[in-house]
Amino acid sequence: MAKRYAEVNSVLCVSCGACAEVCPKSAIKIWRGSYAIVDKSLCIGCGLCARTCPAGVIEVKINELA
Ligand code: SF4
Ligand code: SF4
Repeated sequence: MAKRYAEVNSVLCVSCGACAEVCPKSAIKIWRGSYAIVDKSLCIGCGLCARTCPAGVIEVKINELA
């Protein structure tokens, strides 16, 4: 079954923390205050973080092998 998950472009992330605040699964952490990282084992691919990110640097991807 395909699994959807969020992926952050860490180079463009401005570490505002908005994505971490809205994630219903607490799957996003700001790594050492510099950029957001997604725990794929917790992410359900809802896309809320991607819609919230003011920098538009989160994309929801589909892993067909998961
Ligand atoms: S897609 Fe949903 S569950 Fe996954 S990190 Fe974003 S807000 Fe959290
Ligand atoms: S909302 Fe966007 S810019 Fe802000 S921490 Fe998350 S990924 Fe980075």
